[in-house]
Amino acid sequence: MSDRNPHAAFAALALAAACSAAAAPAQAPVLDLAGRDLATSACQDFYTHVNAGWLARTVLPEDRGRIGSFDELRIANSRLLETALAELLADPARATSPGLKLLASAYRAAMDEAGIERAGLAAVAPWLARIAALKSTAELPALLADLARHRIAAPLTAWVSPDTEDTRRHELYLGNEGLGLPDRDDYFKTDTTTQRVTAAYRVHAANLLRAAGAAHDEAAIDALLAFERQLADATLTRVQRRDPQATNNRSDLKALAERAPGFDWSAYLGAVLQGTSANTPPDQRRFVLSQPAFATAMARLVQQAPLADWQRYLRVRLLDDLAPQLPKALAGSHFAYHETAVRGIRRAPPRSEQVVWELGGRTGGEPLGLAIGELYVSRAFSATAQAKASAMVDDVKEAMRQRIRGLDWMAPATRTKALAKLDAMALQIGGPSEWPRYPGLELKADDYAGNQLRLSAWDQARRIADLDRPVDRNRWTTAPHIVNAFAGSPNRIVFPAGILQPPLFDERADDAVNYGAIGSVIGHEITHHFDDRGRQFDADGNLKDWWTPEDAAAYRARADRVATLYGSYQPLPGQFLNGRQTLGENISDVAGIRIAYDGLQLLLARQRAQGKPVAPIDGLSPEQRFFVANAAIWRTRYRDEALISQIRTGQHSPGPFRVRGPLSNLPAFGQAFGCKPGEPMMASEPIAVW
Ligand SMILES: [Zn+2]
Repeated sequence: MSDRNPHAAFAALALAAACSAAAAPAQAPVLDLAGRDLATSACQDFYTHVNAGWLARTVLPEDRGRIGSFDELRIANSRLLETALAELLADPARATSPGLKLLASAYRAAMDEAGIERAGLAAVAPWLARIAALKSTAELPALLADLARHRIAAPLTAWVSPDTEDTRRHELYLGNEGLGLPDRDDYFKTDTTTQRVTAAYRVHAANLLRAAGAAHDEAAIDALLAFERQLADATLTRVQRRDPQATNNRSDLKALAERAPGFDWSAYLGAVLQGTSANTPPDQRRFVLSQPAFATAMARLVQQAPLADWQRYLRVRLLDDLAPQLPKALAGSHFAYHETAVRGIRRAPPRSEQVVWELGGRTGGEPLGLAIGELYVSRAFSATAQAKASAMVDDVKEAMRQRIRGLDWMAPATRTKALAKLDAMALQIGGPSEWPRYPGLELKADDYAGNQLRLSAWDQARRIADLDRPVDRNRWTTAPHIVNAFAGSPNRIVFPAGILQPPLFDERADDAVNYGAIGSVIGHEITHHFDDRGRQFDADGNLKDWWTPEDAAAYRARADRVATLYGSYQPLPGQFLNGRQTLGENISDVAGIRIAYDGLQLLLARQRAQGKPVAPIDGLSPEQRFFVANAAIWRTRYRDEALISQIRTGQHSPGPFRVRGPLSNLPAFGQAFGCKPGEPMMASEPIAVW
């Protein structure tokens, strides 16, 4: 919450001193009971009951597409980091590690708006020249590989991660991205949202092409869209991409050349793999081809589409990718399309905040994310928080263990494997014990766009070199300042320091509140390894079926009920959630809150046994406080554009449904609030996946 923001804390302190002689600084309450609307019954609509007051008094800022508990914490974390970064620049002696030194250079370059204007397109000029100089599509493999080596999807991507079939070793994955519209379906839809977003993309693409000195009239944009439509047509849908078997296609160069003739895959792969061991020449290396049909279609386009179509597409991809690091004419165009048109954000948030996002990555995956985390953890995370959160993970895990033991529909053979998987699940919490040293990475204090290219190339080369190394199961790949949690490969759950903050986790709070907030997130992440996708991976994190056919069928029947329920929700009139696209998240919500609740009961039983029963606080029982805290973390105000974007492309259900769906299917909720059968928050036949 905003009291984590050092500026806000000072403001609150000053106010408290002015108003009274109270010694303690004003702090947000651990549970916001003032946000409730008691006129709405808890059993009618618990989301509204807990949050309507907050929703009514909260103004959605012009520079946000939505605002809620997670967003407020993100902003607070960013303000803390912006202050820390300013101090780092003012006093270079504070940059005591390689990561902090690099971060200081990167931040200085990113904040120097005048320098960015002066630099113009210098960083991308060599790339634009290469695209202009293409003589034939036969030269494309080398260029596409070089773009992939800089993490620019145009349209091929290549990455290295633990092998889904054997997570002890690394594997090479070949995939595809690089569509200008938010979703592959947008190329085939004609509804008003699609028309509005497509019109904005056309303007943005024309701006990029003008900057590249290329034709940007209506005919050029028509041709760009027609070219991208062919790529989109060969791309799997979001629902199809959730199926790990569908994207697990083992291949090698010979098979790929036969499947997708017309593109020199050997030249492409050779360039992508530069820097790896000579022990495995490209023609002998096996890899995973995520979307074989796409490879076939793209190779056909290399043969059949005019070179000018490829050049236009590559200019747009290159400049769209780097626009946030380029002068205002391009960065502003990028914002107008991606943020204003797609997500409804009226004006840009503070530059320092945008830069923290760009350098760390929105999901914390950018290479400097760990350096930002180093700065963050030193200021905002304690050993006490780490210990407390770990103890909560133990309770929620034990609750899951008891649920698995008690399932009446699961055969002993499957149950044993499920328990083994739970026991093997690893935990990463806070941040890494050692911070990365970034060997070989050099950044400049006056070249934002160039730094972006250098960072991408450095990280990609490092990951490609992983092909020669076994998997380090302890490696951190997530930035610790991020307000998110992850169920990662192989078989681990990750809670960065950034989310272990109020209101998700508060050292001052009673246990019921923490279990209802971060405890439910812990339950959610544990369940991800047992959701419709995660359940297909075994204790080692390998894609391997450990289910009897009967148990798999019983599971699917339960998952189908979740898909049907959420598919019936309408966040906006006539706009239904896609129950299949959001299925993994919804299963994790429905089952996650259940084990978080059971975890709290384990703790309360221990406390009772020690003669320390928990009394009501503010007139609410621990169970009631648990549910109020849970509903409060999902309160969110959305702009229509942001909500529509989430419905169309998101994997998560919007806030209200993350309360109504899980709690109406949890009998303990109805018991805590005395709900009666037939009331909306009491499902007549509750869904229990786990
Ligand atoms: Zn999730």
